[in-house]
Amino acid sequence: MSKTLVSIAIWALGGWLLGTWLGAAAGWALFALGLLMMILVSGLQLSRIAHWVRDIDAPPPPSVGPWDEVLAPIYRKLKQNRLDLQDRTRSFQRALMAAEALPDGALTLTPDKSLLWCNQTAARHLGLDLERDRGHSIFNILRAPEFTRYADQDAWDRSLTLHLGGEGHARTLSLHLAPYGVGQFLLVSRDITQIERLENTRKDFVANVSHEMRTPLTVLSGFVETLQDLPDDALTDEQRRHYLDLMAQQAHNMQALVADLLTLSSLESTPNREGGPVPVTALVRTALTQAQALSGGRHTFDVSLDENLRIRGQDTELASAVGNLLTNAVRYTPANGAITVRWESTADGGAAYRVRDTGIGIDPDDIPRLTERFFRVDRGRSRATGGTGLGLAIAKHVAMRHDARLDIQSTPGKGSVFSILFPAARVCPSTDA
Ligand code: ADP
Repeated sequence: MSKTLVSIAIWALGGWLLGTWLGAAAGWALFALGLLMMILVSGLQLSRIAHWVRDIDAPPPPSVGPWDEVLAPIYRKLKQNRLDLQDRTRSFQRALMAAEALPDGALTLTPDKSLLWCNQTAARHLGLDLERDRGHSIFNILRAPEFTRYADQDAWDRSLTLHLGGEGHARTLSLHLAPYGVGQFLLVSRDITQIERLENTRKDFVANVSHEMRTPLTVLSGFVETLQDLPDDALTDEQRRHYLDLMAQQAHNMQALVADLLTLSSLESTPNREGGPVPVTALVRTALTQAQALSGGRHTFDVSLDENLRIRGQDTELASAVGNLLTNAVRYTPANGAITVRWESTADGGAAYRVRDTGIGIDPDDIPRLTERFFRVDRGRSRATGGTGLGLAIAKHVAMRHDARLDIQSTPGKGSVFSILFPAARVCPSTDA
């Protein structure tokens, strides 16, 4: 305003000076011309401002005269607002990214428990599509009566375990609802399928071990009670020896079971280190001595071992796997059968330990289950030959800890080949040997 007044004053002074020199008419004419120019310039500036207003994010037009005083603070304020908005958008995106990065699923619900937002994990857990399901009631999305009962409470101090999906897609979720903000709700989901499976495996394992222990213990205590109850001369020496032999066998079975359990437990609890060069040949020879003793001359053995072939690993673990495959070959091969043992390099630079027998063989349907703990094709035969049902589970575990694979080929009635195949990376260069 002050600039406008100064401009009018300048034109008025100019008109007065011209008027005193050339006459009043010339003075008024100059003053009128000045005012006209001011009106024209103002109109021009106004049109530039009107143009700017249409694209208000652009900088305002420079030097628009008296308008500068009005436009500058507006522009400063606009710029500040824009920066604030950018800051807030960035914070919001950071919070959103953090919520996306959560290992758990997170859903926000409106006060009437309709879906507001969810992260990718929650979408995966509950099969949601945010675009499609936003605004839908969570009770229509999660149609489980136990969830409805859980969500209808007033306070949630515990999580809900929910079993979802059908065959092949079954999963178990742990859900926890919590109020937040103004009447809104946060639903956190966690996939506990694996944890639950492990827990069931652990329970089954404990039940199996108890069952395996109970059988020999029952037999053993039965014999002890019988012997205690009988008068000294009730049994002949031969009968007494027979009973004692049976008791010794049960005790031996229990010892074998405990030994295998300890091996499994040590495999599970010791960290997996690569270890130094293992003289596998020496391990196989020791196992062979035991297998031949078990065979008692009923089988022929064909052995060929590459003396220079060594792998990096743990010798006690490998000794256990090597021994298990050999004693199994003896136990599941009838008399006069042949057992072939090989320790050799493979075409891909790895190493293979193979035990071939001409024994009873295994039905193809049973092969995938052989390495399950306590799985036996023929329980009676396994027990009668002192089996614990853990040998192949141990062999597979040892193989895995050596980056190796347990391969089983078998034909019922003809025989089997059990191989542990080590990768080239585990084989020690021949200079090491
Ligand atoms: P077990 O102590 O019962 O032998 P394993 O884990 O060593 O337990 O073996 C599991 C099952 O695999 C055995 O019960 C047996 O039925 C089968 N099996 C293992 N090795 C052989 C083999 N060489 N020939 C035939 N069946 C075998």
